[in-house]
Amino acid sequence: MQHFPVFLDLQARPVLVLGAGEVAERKADLLRQAGAEIRFAVSFDAALLEGCALAIGADAPESELQALATACRARGIPVNVVDRPALCTALMPAIIDRAPVTIAVSSGGAAPVLARMIRQKIEALLPPGLGRVAALAERFKSAVRARLPDLAARRRFLDATLGGLPADLAIAGREAEADSAFATALDAAETRPRGMVHLVGAGPGAADLLTLRALRLLGEADVIVHDRLGTEAVLEMARRDAERIFVGKARANHCMKQEDINALLIRLAHEGRRVVRLKGGDPLVFGRGGEEAEALAAAGIPCEVVPGVTAALACAAGAGIPLTHRDAARAVTFVTGHRRDGGVDVRGLVQPGQTLAIYMGISTLAPLRDGLVAEGMAPTMPAAVIERGGTPEQRVLRGTLDSIAAEAPGWVTGGPALLLVGEAVGRGAQGWLQAA
Ligand code: SAH
Repeated sequence: MQHFPVFLDLQARPVLVLGAGEVAERKADLLRQAGAEIRFAVSFDAALLEGCALAIGADAPESELQALATACRARGIPVNVVDRPALCTALMPAIIDRAPVTIAVSSGGAAPVLARMIRQKIEALLPPGLGRVAALAERFKSAVRARLPDLAARRRFLDATLGGLPADLAIAGREAEADSAFATALDAAETRPRGMVHLVGAGPGAADLLTLRALRLLGEADVIVHDRLGTEAVLEMARRDAERIFVGKARANHCMKQEDINALLIRLAHEGRRVVRLKGGDPLVFGRGGEEAEALAAAGIPCEVVPGVTAALACAAGAGIPLTHRDAARAVTFVTGHRRDGGVDVRGLVQPGQTLAIYMGISTLAPLRDGLVAEGMAPTMPAAVIERGGTPEQRVLRGTLDSIAAEAPGWVTGGPALLLVGEAVGRGAQGWLQAA
């Protein structure tokens, strides 16, 4: 993070604005909206800084601006000199004002135009009456605390209410009705909410390949149980104050046994928490989501599965490889490269007109290749390995079954990698399908 955003209370506090002109006036106007008392000056004098909470430099001679910046630094007063990032210790953000909600956007001085574009997008998303929702919550703050001492219960209630009817009424300016809807909901609120587990597919690891439902649940979770495949980019989208529990499951490096993960999910749900069990790709494709769902069902805990973009789909799209093709493949098989006992089983997998998407196959490439050839596949069959498919770090190695078996083990760099084999894989290699 390049700059740390904070919100200043400027009510009745002096702010020095050095300079005279349109820009200085505009800044002063904004600051006045936040209650600041503007101290205008056309030439700098250090005495003017006495008691100032902030100083702005605009439309003034260079030497005056330099003096202002130096004096502010020495006194620890935040200073912003318009269009002169080098002289600033504070940046003026683009502001979205829905008092008491304030949203500030900064590009760190790199591209103020971009910050303004972002601001416009956010402006369009947020109803003008949003501030009334915050005011509604404020009016009921102590009543909510008294009625729902349990933090999880309170969060659950506020999530539902501030996204529901009382909020809609407040936004519409029907505040008396909003109050009564809020009060009714508060009366009916559960003091000891029931826990629930959502088995959520995180997709391949790119934040914008999450589903909207996964995004919403990540924003509402009390606790997120994740492993290596629920990568950082996705976790960034989660609620900041949600507890995160890492149960890292990388193959052959199990940090926590599956039974222990099941027991953990059950315990968290019994505590009344909203649990997101975040799993790479899709939870039900080689993700042991089925085992977790069974354990939860046996313990009587409600469980919902949210699908995610599985590796085969992310890799195919990312590498521009069609999984089916009217001339080359009418079936696609998702298969794992190793059995539970560590062996390889490819019996029945070699069929004409089929694409194989082989998960967890890199460590067993040689026996996989031999098995497929023994089953009748041509060693020249088009194949590809995609590492970290669907993420910005994606890498693709194309070739034939034989060349991939020889080269891929030395080519991979330790990220999750998928093997695609079949006639259709060769189509993609011709490059007519443009990857995103
Ligand atoms: N549930 C996951 C699969 C978990 S098994 C899903 O639906 O995608 C783990 C295997 O998935 C890895 O060994 C690798 O073969 C594959 N995999 C997962 N993410 C991947 C990615 N981003 N790129 C390539 N392969 C990936």
